[in-house]
This record gives sequence, structure tokens and C-alpha cells, in this order.
Amino acid sequence: MDSTPVPGDRTAARRSLEALALGDAFGERWFPLFRPPRQAFAEVRARRTPHEPLWHWTDDTALARALHRVLEERGHVDQDRLALCFALAFDADRARGYGHGMHLLLPQLLGSPGDWRTLAPGLFEGGSLGNGAAMRVAPLGARFHADLGHTARQAALSAEVTHAHPEGVAGAVAVAVAAALSVRGEFTLEAVTARTPEGLVREGLRRAAGVPFTTEPWRAADLLGSGRRIRADDTVPFALWTAARHRGDLEAALWATAEGFGDVDTTCAITAGVVGAATGLEGVPEAWLLRREPLD
Ligand SMILES: [Mg+2]
Repeated sequence: MDSTPVPGDRTAARRSLEALALGDAFGERWFPLFRPPRQAFAEVRARRTPHEPLWHWTDDTALARALHRVLEERGHVDQDRLALCFALAFDADRARGYGHGMHLLLPQLLGSPGDWRTLAPGLFEGGSLGNGAAMRVAPLGARFHADLGHTARQAALSAEVTHAHPEGVAGAVAVAVAAALSVRGEFTLEAVTARTPEGLVREGLRRAAGVPFTTEPWRAADLLGSGRRIRADDTVPFALWTAARHRGDLEAALWATAEGFGDVDTTCAITAGVVGAATGLEGVPEAWLLRREPLD
């Protein structure tokens, strides 16, 4: 069934991708590489726009673009084609902040993309449960919003190529479903939890749904995790909590997500891909749009 092209919403997919890239590039600015933690904390609290004239996006966007391209070409997740496109994106610029697992896996897929079937499950004994499949998948969810079951199945297929562990897959399913629900105007943490496979990601989402939106984001990050362990289950619940807290306001969603620090380019990419699936870049300050590295 999943080999049959389903007409997707290309406009919603593009909206989500543009926002994802903005979130990634904005979030990256808060890493210690660019400003010491104390300064980053003060600037986020003061809502001070990072002054650098060019905000580069990172691996989150590079792989989201590759996935987006395959869906534009094929209309569905062709896993061998996706493995090749991920490898090509990596090879085009290896300095985009890829994690250790991707440095091991992606160069091997360049010559023989079909080998993801044995190589991805072999990463870290049982496959990667990192947040890498979740960080790139929101535009897929936006594209297939008309059919939530199809969205979940396609998200799982997109994850398996690199993140074979059930938690890595569940993270991707949760984010894709959230983006689809966002386009439909039906996004709640409860609805996402209900469609996420059993496991730690789902457990985290259930806990996130119980954290009131009056909670300060840094406190929610303490409770839920904000990607410090770079795992799907310590990244996705917080990123979706801030997205749900600020549905309809991408700028506010990104400031709140940044307050959690942690793996902040990836949490911001996830939040932005979900919120932006509905809003696009509407309402985002002009300075942000000018500073974000272009996509094409
Ligand atoms: Mg990154």
C-alpha cells in the first residue's frame, strides 16, 4: 500500500520545511560554540535576536531537504532512494553537525544505499534511538495530513533507513503526526500520544500532556528532557510541548523551545516544523528571515 503514491499537500510540506530550517538555524545560535551558556541564557530570557548576519542551518535541515526531495520525486518514501539522498546530503557538506552514528553510517550508504537494511539495525546494538529521524520528518507529516495512518506509516519508513530502533521510529511517527494534526488544526499532545507506538517516547508524550502550559519552559525541559541525551524520548516530548503551547505563533514557540537549551537546534527544528506546518513563516521578524541561510 505504501508504494502507491498518495497526492500530498506540497504547499504545506514546503511551509513546514521553511520553518524547520528557520528553527534549526535559530536554535544553533544558542550553542556554546557561538555564545557562552550564561550569555545565551540571558539573551534568550531577554528575547534578544542573535546578532550574527548569517544563521547556518545544520544536519536537521540537510536531511529534511533530502527527504522532501524524495517525496517530491516519488510521492512516497522509497527507502533505497532515501538512503542514497541522505548519503549525498552528508557527502555534500560533512560539517553540518551530524552525530556519531551518521558519520559511521552515511558514508557507507553512498556506494551501496540498499545496505541500510543491515547497517542501520547494526548501529549501537539494535539501531539508533537518537532524535535524527524525528528532526527531519515534520514536512512529511504536513504533506500527508489528509491521512494520519498513511502519515504514520510513511514516517516509520523514513526513520528505518537510519534509525532502526523502535524508539527512533516512534519519535519520527510522533513528530509527523503532530505536523499533520497541526495542518488540520487538530494538534494536541493527547492526539499525538494516541497515535504514537508504545514505548518511552509515548510515555514521555503522556507526561508532557500533563504539564500545564503555565509552566516555565526551562522547568518543562527539566521534567521532560530537552535532548541532552540526544535520544528521541528525551527530545520529542519537550519539543512538541512547546509547539502545543504556542500553536499559531512560530516566534513565541521558538523562544520557548530555546529556553530549554539541550539539543537546541534539533528541538527548535522539530517545534518549528510542527508549528510552521500551519503558520508558515507568517509573523516571524524580518531580521530572522534575512539571516537564515537560504534553502536552495
Ligand atoms: Mg543539527
